[in-house]
Amino acid sequence: MTKPPGPLPFATGSIIDFPAEASCLQIEGLTLAYGGKPALKGLTLRVPRHRVTAFIGPSGCGKSTLLRALNRLHDLNDEVSHAGRILLEGQDIHAPEVAVDELRRRVGMVFQVPNPFPMSIYENVAFGLRLLGGMRKRQMDDTVEWALNAAALWDEVKDRLRASAWSLSGGQQQRLVIARSLAVRPEVLLLDEPASALDPISTLKVEELIRRLKSQLTLVLVTHNMQQAARVSDYTAFLQHGELVEYAPTDTLFTNPSLKSTENYITGRMA
Ligand code: ADP
Repeated sequence: MTKPPGPLPFATGSIIDFPAEASCLQIEGLTLAYGGKPALKGLTLRVPRHRVTAFIGPSGCGKSTLLRALNRLHDLNDEVSHAGRILLEGQDIHAPEVAVDELRRRVGMVFQVPNPFPMSIYENVAFGLRLLGGMRKRQMDDTVEWALNAAALWDEVKDRLRASAWSLSGGQQQRLVIARSLAVRPEVLLLDEPASALDPISTLKVEELIRRLKSQLTLVLVTHNMQQAARVSDYTAFLQHGELVEYAPTDTLFTNPSLKSTENYITGRMA
């Protein structure tokens, strides 16, 4: 595996920036409204490659809206209008030549509640590979094993690959969903509160997995759990009322925030 270029962050006021060549995603002046009601107001930030970036902020500040915009999950909502650009590896994700299926292969998404399909453990992981087509059984078996290993689940399921995915515990189901995403070799994995429905031990396993996966891809995490953001992310963006307030290395944001509003939020003075 080639070593990713280390980002060379530089700060502009309270917003850290990264050179374009170290950035996997570039969000430029992103404004998004639901039925004319703005949820994101001119966000500009870069997400560094092969790092974990967390979006935090009070409920309703726009974290999930932003995450969903990154793989065009708003496309089917006629109420949504947006302006500004999102670049993935330098390419506008709304450019006419971008096929949304291919974008979603490159940018995977994991939701709050594990959503394995009603099929076997093996078939869940093979699902995206079958859609892509062109894979022989042996190669499919190898890729399923690779993805389950990458999601730290192989040892727990290797003897029951044909069992229903629904026979797994909640934490195992979430790691299965991550394996399903990884199987199609995404460049980015978006995680929307991925551990909030899990027990503490399963949460730690998912957090450990997130930290490990950054050697392979770029991760973006939405969480309302600040300890979780502090434990797993390298950089944290604090949003409020649809605006980016502060974006910094996670250690700095949690121990020495630049702005009073960030401090109020992380010290619990703001819901
Ligand atoms: P967060 O993830 O930070 O809790 P959201 O992105 O879910 O915030 O929501 C941001 C704003 O957009 C909120 O005011 C919310 O009510 C609104 N919103 C989110 N999803 C929709 C939707 N599908 N239709 C209309 N408004 C929405």
